[in-house]
This record gives sequence, structure tokens and C-alpha cells, in this order.
Amino acid sequence: MKVLAIANQKGGVGKTTTAVNLAASLAHLGKRVLLVDLDPQANATMGSGIDKSKLKHSTYSLLLGDSSIEQTLKTSESGGYDLLPASRDLAGAEVELVDADSRETRLKTALARVAVNYDYILLDCPPALNLLTLNGLVAADAVMIPMQCEYFALEGLSDLVNTLRRIKQNLNKKIEIEGLLRTMFDPRSTLAQQVSEQLVKHFTSKLYHTVIPRNVRLAEAPSYGRPILAYDKSSKGAQAYLQLAEEMLARHDALEAVPTV
Ligand code: ATP
Ligand code: MG
Repeated sequence: MKVLAIANQKGGVGKTTTAVNLAASLAHLGKRVLLVDLDPQANATMGSGIDKSKLKHSTYSLLLGDSSIEQTLKTSESGGYDLLPASRDLAGAEVELVDADSRETRLKTALARVAVNYDYILLDCPPALNLLTLNGLVAADAVMIPMQCEYFALEGLSDLVNTLRRIKQNLNKKIEIEGLLRTMFDPRSTLAQQVSEQLVKHFTSKLYHTVIPRNVRLAEAPSYGRPILAYDKSSKGAQAYLQLAEEMLARHDALEAVPTV
């Protein structure tokens, strides 16, 4: 079982699109997947076909200790995975947890109860390095960082890497960078190509070969409450996220095959 946080404090870089579609792709490939929505915007929840306004329990009540993880779990029929949904009141969690015990480890503790039921747990983090993202990074084995190949992409990255370094020292020694993912890629843009080349140079082995293209079908699917595989399986976007899931699984299999001494 592996817990992957999908994080980047920069907004609108494709975190949620990646979380939802990677979850569905891994499920399609036979993996048991749980997607956790840690963003008060609840886009991953809606995009999984769960109505955020009709929830009795959510990651908000879970983090506050007002619901158990079993009570909070939902199933995304369109995605083929389980979901811990978010609701708007999650925005208040930060303030309400400020003086609470073990406020950074609440998600980790909750997930430990159901971890045996899954092969992958994906965490969709909000666009901020706040307490919600911190809960995600403390619970995670590794971080996947989606980024758009544009001018300021690398600047934000150093803040994230510094945060990860601090978390590794204090709260979660095992955390590592799983990989960097190029999203919304437009091959006709010279700037995108230049930034992409820089990423290849700096992050070689940490950069996924798979590149997610800009594809309008990916942007349309959430309004139908569906991951792209259940909306337009033959689209370039669907094929790209399937390829990402396959690349990730191949990497993990290769790591597990290394004999331990
Ligand atoms: P936030 O920081 O607000 O949580 P995010 O990083 O989760 O944003 P998304 O919500 O996944 O980013 O994507 C931002 C917008 O871009 C959305 O409208 C989404 O539908 C669209 N989008 C994401 N990826 C693609 C893509 N590959 N092609 C076209 N549109 C995309
Ligand atoms: Mg998002």
C-alpha cells in the first residue's frame, strides 16, 4: 500500500484533474484505490460524482474527530474507487484545529485503520501549504507534483521542496518526491518546450516520461461527475492518464523487485 499526496501550492496546475483521473486509471488497471479530498473547493468530490452539498460526513468531520473513517467513506461509481469527500466547511478546519492535539497527524491516524483495504491512497491537496496540506504530507509516503510548463513554475517548486525538507526532518522521515508531472502541455508553445527541457535537465529521474496534454475533454468531464475514462475513453487525456498509471506501476514494481540485503 502506498499513500501519494498530489500537491503544489500553486493553484490551477492540474492537481485535482490528476488525482481523479489517476485514481480512476489505477482502478481500471485492477488496483484498489481510495481518493481523499483535502480541498474545501471539493472539486475532486464533485468530479467523482458525489454531491458535496448532500454529505453527512466529510474529511472535515473526520479531521475534527466528529465522524469515523468508516462513516465518511463513499464509493465513486463512475470512477471505480472509494472516496473520502470534502465539503466547504473544511475551510474552517484550520482555525478549529489550531489548538487541538496532534493536529498534523489526524489524517495519518484515520487512514491507518483502512490502509489494508487499498493498494493506493491518493490525497488531493489544496493550493496552499496550510494545515490540510500538512496533514496530507504527514500521511504520505511520497508526493506527486503536477506542474504546468510556464515561466514561474520552477519558483514555486523551491518553496515546496523546502517545506518537504522540513517535514522530513520533523514530522515524516520517510517522505520523498515520487515524481514531477508535466500537465496541460501544449507542444506548440515554445515556452512550454523550454520549461520542459529545464525540468528534464534538473529532475531527470524524478520526472515522469508521460506528459499530460492540454485536452478539452479533461476539462469537461468533471461537470458530468465523471473521470475521463467514464466520459471519453478514447480521448488523448484519457490515454495520457492511463499511461501515467502504467508508468507509475512499472516504477513501483521495479523498486519492489530489488532484493533487500
Ligand atoms: P486548485 O489549485 O484550484 O485546486 P488544481 O491544481 O487542482 O487547482 P485542476 O482543478 O485540476 O487544478 O485544473 C485547473 C483547471 O484546468 C480546471 O478547470 C481543469 O478542468 C483544467 N484542466 C486541468 N488539466 C487539464 C488538461 N490537461 N487539459 C485541459 N484542461 C485541464
Ligand atoms: Mg484542486
